[in-house]
Amino acid sequence: MSIPSNREANVLNTEKILSGLPDDLKMLVQRQAPLRNRTTLQIGGPASLLCEARNTEQARRFQEIAHHHELPFFILGGGSNLLAADEGFAGLVLLVATDEFTTSGNTLIAGAGLDFDQLIQRSLAAGLSGLEFASGIPGTLGGAVMGNAGCYGHELCEFLLEAITLSPDGLVQRRGPEEFGFGYRSTALRESGEILLQVTLKLQLGGIDEALATRNEKILDRRSKHPNNLPSAGSWFRNLPAPAPGQHRVAAGSLLEKVGAKKMFEGDARVFSGHANMIVNTGEATSAQVKILARRMKKAVADKYQVDLIQEVRHLEVVNPELPQ
Ligand SMILES: Cc1cc2nc3c(=O)[nH]c(=O)nc-3n(C[C@H](O)[C@H](O)[C@H](O)COP(=O)(O)OP(=O)(O)OC[C@H]3O[C@@H](n4cnc5c(N)ncnc54)[C@H](O)[C@@H]3O)c2cc1C
Repeated sequence: MSIPSNREANVLNTEKILSGLPDDLKMLVQRQAPLRNRTTLQIGGPASLLCEARNTEQARRFQEIAHHHELPFFILGGGSNLLAADEGFAGLVLLVATDEFTTSGNTLIAGAGLDFDQLIQRSLAAGLSGLEFASGIPGTLGGAVMGNAGCYGHELCEFLLEAITLSPDGLVQRRGPEEFGFGYRSTALRESGEILLQVTLKLQLGGIDEALATRNEKILDRRSKHPNNLPSAGSWFRNLPAPAPGQHRVAAGSLLEKVGAKKMFEGDARVFSGHANMIVNTGEATSAQVKILARRMKKAVADKYQVDLIQEVRHLEVVNPELPQ
């Protein structure tokens, strides 16, 4: 009798798991779903199970399945801040796809799975301004809140009134902003594995003409700075803390530029010529190549400036504690 390889074992396993699912859940599951199609860098092998949760109950049931079968688990939004492994993800990827949208007065209630830029457009169309500064940030509303996304001096944490989350132990809870533990491009809730399902934001009624003008300006600015035609995952490293209170953060890109990062590449993974803190996939880049390139960028800055850059982009991979990382 032949011993199945890890990958074969994984396929057999998912077949068994799927056969035990009721039809209403089965239709929301894709097997061996290529992660390159789910990440803006367009890199990544297959997820054994990609499960689309359109409401809280579905998210809870998929989470339960992962627990029951002891599967590695990953929460996916728009995949715009992720490097997915070439080997794929031998586990259950939960795609948050909650998409409700309502407004009342100056508040907006929306599913965390909504496309973030579409949410901005819809909020403006509903007469609510405030989010226009973030126009053009890719990904979902949930990813933006859980990563405290920001730009041009503002962050998502300024707008959060309330949220509905599902905790790793299966508890659905209403959360106030103080429970998120907001930091620079981070939240404590993301680190503890909470699934964000619904968000209530406090915006402003009116001011739409001005907001639309700001939106157009920000989109044009992004187009002039970002790799519009090449897959990327946004800024690779976080900006550095401000040197003194009241000052701006130091852009990681400025240090990377000074160490010549714009000329660095590994295979088809390259530092974007227009922005030294962005890695682009110029063809068939692999996650292994991207990791080598990112390490080289980090080392060049550490060697010259003794600064330890912290990665902003997250890894979508099964971490094996027995292997050196
Ligand atoms: C061209 C480009 C420009 C960008 N510009 C900016 C910018 O100006 N400012 C900025 O902050 N970012 C920027 N980004 C990065 C990225 O778009 C944001 O971080 C975005 O908010 C990530 O959302 P997402 O849905 O794609 O999250 P994903 O990439 O899918 O996931 C990122 C992390 O959030 C977690 N997560 C996602 N959704 C949920 C959820 N519902 N519940 C719990 N956890 C969740 C994931 O597990 C993962 O750890 C840019 C990216 C690109 C490609």
